[in-house]
Amino acid sequence: MKILVVGGAGYIGSICAELLLDEGHSVAVFDNLTEGHRRAIDARAELFEGDLSERSAIDAALKSFTPEAVMHFAASALVGESMQNPSKYFRNNVANGLNLLDAMIAADVKRLVFSSTCATFGPPDRIPLDETQPQRPINPYGESKLAFERILRWYDEIHGLRFVALRYFNAAGASEKFGEDHRIETHLIPNVLKVALGQKSHVEIYGTDYDTPDGTCIRDYIHILDLSQAHILALDAPKSDFYNIGTGGGTSVREVIDTCRAITGCELPVVEKPRRAGDPPRLIAASEKIKRELGWQPRFQRIDAIIESAWKWHQQFPNGYGD
Ligand code: UDP
Repeated sequence: MKILVVGGAGYIGSICAELLLDEGHSVAVFDNLTEGHRRAIDARAELFEGDLSERSAIDAALKSFTPEAVMHFAASALVGESMQNPSKYFRNNVANGLNLLDAMIAADVKRLVFSSTCATFGPPDRIPLDETQPQRPINPYGESKLAFERILRWYDEIHGLRFVALRYFNAAGASEKFGEDHRIETHLIPNVLKVALGQKSHVEIYGTDYDTPDGTCIRDYIHILDLSQAHILALDAPKSDFYNIGTGGGTSVREVIDTCRAITGCELPVVEKPRRAGDPPRLIAASEKIKRELGWQPRFQRIDAIIESAWKWHQQFPNGYGD
């Protein structure tokens, strides 16, 4: 298939593009390169540099590349920042995303795989979190993604847009070529590995008084290669739908740090800080629906394997993409 990967220079988009190309698909990337990196774009993919706020830029990319499907990764994705600057999140994730949908409908491209998030749920009533639970986001990031999910449902009903929205839990790890390099790094695993690389003096733990066994937040870390595979399966989904996607395992912040100690052999000093605004204590995915309906099977269940792949990439590219 011909697939336009919007946000294909970012962490998850770059690795999805790589996997699509490895499987023989034809790929073009649309990215404004503010969060993404030119060097994260696979050499086999064509680049359309542009911003979703400009409808004409996305119209031109669709006209020139004529894709059969779009994968949409381009969004602002930091919970903490969304609590400071909600406007950025609603503008980028909802208003600019609408430009993409309208351009797709105008160009008669009616297949979409959308990056959604477990942050659309807020603190869950039950763990693991399945698709039947109520969506009550507690930060503008989650709210913006939920708004887009709702828009997608209407675009399907009215325009016949066939979509799959994947609600990611915590994407982590790397492929051989591409990995996680944010200009301002807020994520746990890369921040811990930066300490191991000697680029930071210590790891900060945001909150040690949660109602969890060791007092720190629990997350479901999913290997980026397993997550990418799900996007490829989603291209062939028979109908529009929403899927939660994680491994079903929960790892606390302290357990992540201990695993990083074991893998890197570094001491990794920690400083305990107050809670970070907007963080639910425990998020674990129920992924039975995507396994059952799309045949998804994660290959990497253990946090060690995920962190090992990230450590390998960070050692090879200690300064990330260098921009
Ligand atoms: N966290 C932490 N120290 C850091 C970065 C993150 O203690 O330097 C915690 C954060 O509060 C959350 C968990 O680690 O409980 C995962 O955070 P991350 O930002 O990686 O992903 P999120 O779950 O927010 O998408």
